[in-house]
Amino acid sequence: MLRFTSLASGSQGNCLVVESGATRVLVDCGLSARETVRRLARRGLEPESLRAILVTHEHEDHLGGVNALAATYGLEVVLTRGTLAAQREADTARRADAGAAASDGVRTQLIDGRAPFAIDDLEVRPFTVPHDAREPVQYVLSDGARRLGVLTDLGGPTAHVIEMLSGCEALVLECNHALDLLWGGGYPRWLKARIGGPLGHLDNDAAAALLAALDRSRLQHVIAAHLSEQNNRPELARAALAGALGCAPEWIGLATQAEGFGWRELD
Ligand SMILES: [Zn+2]
Ligand SMILES: [Zn+2]
Repeated sequence: MLRFTSLASGSQGNCLVVESGATRVLVDCGLSARETVRRLARRGLEPESLRAILVTHEHEDHLGGVNALAATYGLEVVLTRGTLAAQREADTARRADAGAAASDGVRTQLIDGRAPFAIDDLEVRPFTVPHDAREPVQYVLSDGARRLGVLTDLGGPTAHVIEMLSGCEALVLECNHALDLLWGGGYPRWLKARIGGPLGHLDNDAAAALLAALDRSRLQHVIAAHLSEQNNRPELARAALAGALGCAPEWIGLATQAEGFGWRELD
């Protein structure tokens, strides 16, 4: 069985729990360790029960709590070489500012962003994505039979992304912003250009177009994720994805910053 739940989703922090058989992992941890533990408890989970933390890239909303949680509970951190390098550089700069010593006792597993690997009962296929980070990946996670595709930070769809997400039973899909809300909103122009640019984030219509381009024949769950609180509205994201699927907007799940979303199971 494969099941998953989100503890938080959005620019203030992302954290997804995925379980296959007896293996439970986090994908990203952009909440503080303390807040992550609190939210795990809401789902009936202890942090010690996690096998690893899979990291997509070094942005704070994905990596912010990873090292603290991993160090406290002895969890392995799984990431690309580029993500590790970017994180270490940021860490060194921070420690130099604070005059603190290195305290890096975290176990890491370096991965190739195009090579599948396994963590006990969980099969993981990372895939590379265009995003403004050093070596970002996203993940397809499987129990061997069913697949969950996770895509939270994407400048724009590529043939590789479409191939990797095709045929999944479940998708957690970025719907970052509505183009008119982003461009008509109060962000500085450079930031709008970054978010809306080819290495930024996926808008609702682009997410819908990506969904329409996929093999959707096995889909049981679609969840709109990483919504901007400034530049999007849940009903806009749902309507866009529902348009691509020809379903009712209520069928599209929603990952929120405050709550994430509850357990979903694949059968
Ligand atoms: Zn990012
Ligand atoms: Zn992000």
